[in-house]
Amino acid sequence: MSESAVTTAMLVDFDKADPTDRSLLGGKGAGLAHMISMGLDVPPGFTVTTHACREFMRTGEIPEGLWNDVDDAVTRLEGKLGRAFGGGPAPLLVSVRSGAVHSMPGMMDTVLNLGLNSTLVKVVADWAGDERFAYSAYRRFIQMYSNVVLGLEMAPFERALARAKSDAGAGDDTELSTSDLRRLVAEYEGIVRGQGAKLPEDPTEQLRAAITAVFRSWENDRAVVYRRRHGIPDDLGTAANVQMMVFGDLGPTSGTGVCFTRDPSTGERTPYGDYLPQAQGEDVVAGIRDTLTLDDLSSRHPDLHTELLETMTRLEQSTRDMADIEFTIERNKLWILQTRAGKRTAAAAVRIAIDMVDEGLISTEDAVLRVDPAQLEQLERPRLQSRVDVDPVTTGIGASPGAAQGRVTFDPGRAVTMAADGTDVILVSPETTPDDIHGMYAARGILTSRGGKTSHAAVVARGEGKPAVTGASGLLVDEEAATGHIGDLTIHEGDEITIDGTTGSVYLGLLPLIEPRPTPELERLLNWADEIRQIGVRANADTGADAAKARAAGAEGIGLARTEHMFMGERLGIVQRLILADSDRDRSAALRELSTQQIGDFEGLLEAMDGLPVVVRLLDPPLHEFLPDRFELEAEIQQKVLKNKPVADLQHMASRVKEYEEDNPMLGLRGVRLGLVVSELYEMQTKAAVTAVIRRLDAGGDPHLELMIPLVSTVEELRRMRDMIRRVIADSGRDLHIPVGTMIELPRAALTAGEIAGVAEFFSFGTNDLTQMTYGLSRDDAGRFLGMYLKEGILTSDPFETIDVAGVGRLIQLAAKEGREANPALQLGVCGEHGGDPATIAFCRDVGLDYVSCSTPRIHVARLAAAQAEIRRIRQSE
Ligand code: ADP
Ligand code: MG
Ligand code: MG
Repeated sequence: MSESAVTTAMLVDFDKADPTDRSLLGGKGAGLAHMISMGLDVPPGFTVTTHACREFMRTGEIPEGLWNDVDDAVTRLEGKLGRAFGGGPAPLLVSVRSGAVHSMPGMMDTVLNLGLNSTLVKVVADWAGDERFAYSAYRRFIQMYSNVVLGLEMAPFERALARAKSDAGAGDDTELSTSDLRRLVAEYEGIVRGQGAKLPEDPTEQLRAAITAVFRSWENDRAVVYRRRHGIPDDLGTAANVQMMVFGDLGPTSGTGVCFTRDPSTGERTPYGDYLPQAQGEDVVAGIRDTLTLDDLSSRHPDLHTELLETMTRLEQSTRDMADIEFTIERNKLWILQTRAGKRTAAAAVRIAIDMVDEGLISTEDAVLRVDPAQLEQLERPRLQSRVDVDPVTTGIGASPGAAQGRVTFDPGRAVTMAADGTDVILVSPETTPDDIHGMYAARGILTSRGGKTSHAAVVARGEGKPAVTGASGLLVDEEAATGHIGDLTIHEGDEITIDGTTGSVYLGLLPLIEPRPTPELERLLNWADEIRQIGVRANADTGADAAKARAAGAEGIGLARTEHMFMGERLGIVQRLILADSDRDRSAALRELSTQQIGDFEGLLEAMDGLPVVVRLLDPPLHEFLPDRFELEAEIQQKVLKNKPVADLQHMASRVKEYEEDNPMLGLRGVRLGLVVSELYEMQTKAAVTAVIRRLDAGGDPHLELMIPLVSTVEELRRMRDMIRRVIADSGRDLHIPVGTMIELPRAALTAGEIAGVAEFFSFGTNDLTQMTYGLSRDDAGRFLGMYLKEGILTSDPFETIDVAGVGRLIQLAAKEGREANPALQLGVCGEHGGDPATIAFCRDVGLDYVSCSTPRIHVARLAAAQAEIRRIRQSE
């Protein structure tokens, strides 16, 4: 077959498929094909490809000939198995499973036990010799088909099931008898009819409708939300895998489970698994019953346990990654149903990457590529002190590490509204389902009373990097009453709790948290990254303390120290006195005071970053930002007038505020313009900087200060500032070199970079402003429509998070090129939020910048992302 014939195939049998063609088969289909090629026992079947799905989405119709292909594939399957789809004596039931290229656990739909109807249920009963099983399978089929294919309301089914259980005094559905199940099936059929729907008796019709529904599930709300959050394109489509059913609920020698080849929360090299006897499909993940461990499995089925562990090892060796595996035991035979790269916490990702290098499975470069840089921010999450002197009120399973605290809610919708009000929320629930994800996204942490480490709550929480405790079985949740009960204790909505997803402990109240420290594993990984990366990583830091933290995190200097922060807080009064001063004497006095403070600030920065570059930006914001709000002032004046109190000072202030008022402060007197108009300010800052350098030198330090002028639009602005700085240095009488550079944050500066570079020793791209000015869009006002733009696809990503390569990026590229042509020694960097964004870092590397500068919590992210960009670039060109 030619390559294009392969990629446009509509249907492929598992045992004929090319396991490397994930984009055609989807992850699940590719995994099944891979496992079959390894000779593992996988129920046979075929994949209806993503190509067929894309055709369906494009045209709105099932591609011509597809149903014939499906019929033929079913016939092949029947022949291989000696079973009959829609017949007997050995009936064939199938599952129809969604499976996209990127794993989206639980986001799309799957139908199990398909091929049953009111007469075939008896054939299944005879074949299995177990009538109870046949009705149980039929019950599940009706419910899943009604949900996934017919789109019916699930609540009536859930209620009927709950009622059947309570009538029968059954703790869970395995305790329902054949006659209970028969009655329930009849009731289900009534519910379907009652909702005006019809469940087809013809298995072929069921199969076609289920494949169509799986294709459609690509577009369901959950899937769309998930794709947005994870940046997965909308046009990939899903495959539909049709596979022979194996039954984990066929008596006590059957069961189903999920396992990980290593611990997904710590990364430890110990297999982890959850197992449920007499269960099917999602029962484990849904946490409807308490699961057993792999050790329990080993006492029940020692041989199968050994076989499973061997399979786990083989799968890990063949994929060289931690695998997440679904398995089912049908009457003492082990079947493997799915494998994929397991979702893991950041800590586990780091640990696994390091261990696999030590085990000789992967190279250090692969290890560096294995960890998602964005995920590293998780490791900055606070933890509980290791010694807590309060007793937990209950404990469960530490399913996603780190500590979270906040107010309890039992309702995902409430979690969203509470979080929107700025409340930290802990979502508490018996278990979670994919319908709860909006609430899980909004919550700080998740606590469930059921389910293990492979439950839905656990998997989502780890993916989100949120702490979670699952299976806290001492907690009884009453969702209707919105209360939780632990023994005599009642927890209400709004109560404060702390959960420790590392140990599984749950505490009342808010316990003190501590900042984490990088683990030795992380240090090793980042050291490898440092050896690989070419681009420097600096920090945006404004104080000596910040700078010290940044240096400890691996920053190679400061790319941006903002001086306006140094003017805020208790110093605001001095700044206001400066602005309000009527005489030169008052003004000089205020400036002197500020200067003393600034010298201290700069010394602190230079000391913390001794031997490394420190770029200090002179004052940027409009002056009015230092003044009170005029309307508040006027209100205060009125109050005082009414009370006959003196108002002269306030009136003076109000008139100054008015003087500095601008229609559009972002485009007004700020940055270098302020520096030129109120020249004493920048001069004071420069003198303070020079004094700080001299003091550090005299103290035996090695200061590398650079001064950066903000908001330059024309070379003349920068030239005057540079001359002023040179004058101040000359006046100091010392032989100092302090490089002077500018932020490139206005389109005009980028476009005239060649001229500006004649005066500048460095450029730092201020991508926040450059993005605002290029789009003509204020970041603070973008919220009103950016969401809609992203949703409607007018923009594909938020330009304030990831650099807009086509527009803003083009300006950067041009400025870098023309700047370097004019001044080959020009140093180039980027500062602003984008500096910590992995995609932006890759871009900066490609256009030849010397460094990125980002906030301290993102230094690790940037170090790793910079190395990944390097490796990808090298591998691409090979
Ligand atoms: P998801 O992508 O949400 O995990 P799956 O397609 O894997 O959905 O199916 C849901 C559940 O049904 C899984 O537990 C899976 O193991 C089980 N399942 C799917 N197909 C079969 C089958 N042919 N036989 C037995 N169990 C199956
Ligand atoms: Mg699955
Ligand atoms: Mg700016």
